[in-house]
Amino acid sequence: MDIVINDNLRPDAQILPFYLADEHTGTPLVRGRIASVGHVADTILARHNYPQDVALLQAEALAMTACLSSTLKFDGIFTLQAKGDGRARTLFADITETGAMRGYTAFAEDTAAVVSVYGVSNLPQIMGTGYMAFTVDEGATGGRYQGIVELDGPELRDAAMAWFANSEQLETTVTSASGLGDDGWQATAMMLQRIATEGGKNPNKADIEMHDDVWHTAKTLMASVKQTELLSPEITPDQLVFRLFNTLSPHVAPARPVMDECRCNMEKVEAILKQLKPEDADDLLDDDGTILVTCEFCKTERRFDTDVLAG
Ligand SMILES: [Zn+2]
Repeated sequence: MDIVINDNLRPDAQILPFYLADEHTGTPLVRGRIASVGHVADTILARHNYPQDVALLQAEALAMTACLSSTLKFDGIFTLQAKGDGRARTLFADITETGAMRGYTAFAEDTAAVVSVYGVSNLPQIMGTGYMAFTVDEGATGGRYQGIVELDGPELRDAAMAWFANSEQLETTVTSASGLGDDGWQATAMMLQRIATEGGKNPNKADIEMHDDVWHTAKTLMASVKQTELLSPEITPDQLVFRLFNTLSPHVAPARPVMDECRCNMEKVEAILKQLKPEDADDLLDDDGTILVTCEFCKTERRFDTDVLAG
């Protein structure tokens, strides 16, 4: 029986936490997340004129960013940023603790599009050689934590798993996909994390074996998910959890919303302009003596008079 408790949120703009439990005691054994951000990708990509291969990668990065951020406790911004020497030089996506997302990709327009098929973004062919950085910026306390991995796997998830392997004690597996269908963009990432065995009393051998068994079964079931299932607008994240993990006592928690929301404003842009050196500011002046600033993320255009400049 599907128990849908998250029908108050768009299924394609949410992060759904769930867990898989010991069928006898109800003890959580595996923690999971599904980030379904097709609606967010749709509105973000609508403002950029990316070719299909670049858009696929951007959409997938948005889903992965939302998914990974939900495993962290932070009060600020989580960022995924890749730098490469290929067609795309910068891939960027970030999310605040409230679910506000942004993203952009800087790519060389004179390079040939990378052949991509539905659901597969072809990360190494698009980015070339480079690295991916995962950063947590704590707004209030000023703390900043960054993990950096090489871009040497065939998929986005390889970079994410390398990051987990470096930074987390817990075994983690993750997958993601993106695609443009009849209903617009779909972009989904899913992860599973083995919950640490309770400390204190020594767990008995049978419990450890059962936990091992549940973890391996869960990983196998996740690996069996088809891209069409991950990306189907007909299947909500709740339904996907029960469909995939029905034999492992799945429980879903309230989902969290994700939205397309930039954080730029007049004051921030003015503050940047004020810091410009006079010669750099001169280069930005239009014929009418004003400066047009376009936000890289949301494409909002703001025009300034030169009196905002320092000196
Ligand atoms: Zn903006």
